[in-house]
Amino acid sequence: MAADAEAVDDPTAGLPRMDDIVSLCARRGFIWQSSEIYGGINGFWDYGPLGVELKNNLKALWWQRVVRGRDDVEGLDSSIIAHPRTWEASGHVEHFSDPLVDCRACKKRMRADQLDDAGPCPARQGTSEHDWTPARNFNLMLKTFVGAQEDAAATAFLRAETCQSIFLDFKRVRESARQRLPFGIAQIGKAFRNEINPRNFTFRSREFEQAELEFFCHISEREKWFEHWLGERLAFHHELGLKETRLRVRPHRPDELAHYAHAAADIEFLFPFGWQEIEGVHDRGDWDLRRHSEFSGKDLTITDEETKERFHPCVIETSVGIDRSCLALLANAYEEEKLPDGETRALLRLPLAVAPVKVAVLPLAKKLAEPAQRIASELRRHWSVFYDESGNIGRRYRRQDEVGTPFCITYDFDSESDARVTVRERDSMTQERIPVDGLRAYLQDRLETAR
Ligand code: ATP
Repeated sequence: MAADAEAVDDPTAGLPRMDDIVSLCARRGFIWQSSEIYGGINGFWDYGPLGVELKNNLKALWWQRVVRGRDDVEGLDSSIIAHPRTWEASGHVEHFSDPLVDCRACKKRMRADQLDDAGPCPARQGTSEHDWTPARNFNLMLKTFVGAQEDAAATAFLRAETCQSIFLDFKRVRESARQRLPFGIAQIGKAFRNEINPRNFTFRSREFEQAELEFFCHISEREKWFEHWLGERLAFHHELGLKETRLRVRPHRPDELAHYAHAAADIEFLFPFGWQEIEGVHDRGDWDLRRHSEFSGKDLTITDEETKERFHPCVIETSVGIDRSCLALLANAYEEEKLPDGETRALLRLPLAVAPVKVAVLPLAKKLAEPAQRIASELRRHWSVFYDESGNIGRRYRRQDEVGTPFCITYDFDSESDARVTVRERDSMTQERIPVDGLRAYLQDRLETAR
């Protein structure tokens, strides 16, 4: 009875296990721990052949949707290391910290607001409770030195978020692109945070990628643009196939808001480890431009041509973690399906647009390799194609299901005489015979209409 009640309350009940997803990712070349042969380095991850395709597909969709598809957003690719004053102006040097505690007995180090995850203390007699030190602030910025000296004057930071350089480049972009308010600047890039407890696979890492948009508007239009961008971003995640029941918007409570923020909302996804943020949408007011104006001594205001009003524009930010978004896509797509013959197949029901491999070409026998390879080379000019001639055909289909390949093409002995191949679809497992010379048009139609 108690167990049933728990299952009803637990929103993650029935979701696939994280361990299965992590294991598939490493085994099939999506993601594994960085520096694995040296025992790994905590909080850093490498994306393998399939992982990098998935990630690139996601980034291309974001770029198309947020930058290229609009005439009011410009792109940017700024350096990872910015002038150290940047981080003083932004408040990161002073405030970008988490409360840290240590257990005096077992030496475990935790974020003070995440002690529920600490588990029992292995080192104390007669109690499983940890003996925590008082919390102290730990700055999350990763430091480095620029130039030959290693002293305070040479200290620089790896950026903790990609948006700050958008503010530094605001004037340059606006003038070179001849933009007027309202308009945005967007970029995708690496960010670094010295997280106290990296965990949940790639969800909380020390090096990760962000895709951020800073949209500049007049303060009188802040609510309108906040709603617009929140709606846009939510629609994007829905279009990526993230299930309705696993996506939600959580507006921030007034006591959670940064002192300069007017409004903020997290877009959350239901991971196997619970509801967690994948994207933040923030109304940052004019804080950033005002601060960088102050610290740099450069005028970052705009003058309204009609009213002659001079002001620092208000900023609406959307900030999504590419790694968290990839993890959400994988967790959303992973299924173990019971087949009528009693077997179970593991599959990734990835949307076609993000699937790392679009088509697998499989000759039924090694003898048929040559014509099958010709088909693979032709299709490779248009899509990512995988060629596989080893193992029985059922096993080869399963291998493709497991990495989310939407179409498998089998070249068999009949293909020699009828110039047709079998196209098998991942989700339904239905098969149809398609003429070889119509393959490209067929796939184009299937892959493009799914966008
Ligand atoms: P959290 O509260 O989970 O630490 P945050 O509110 O600090 O996240 P933001 O500073 O708003 O996150 O960053 C925007 C996005 O960047 C997040 O929604 C997330 O997708 C991503 N992100 C932030 N920190 C990490 C991290 N350590 N590892 C992976 N992605 C991250």
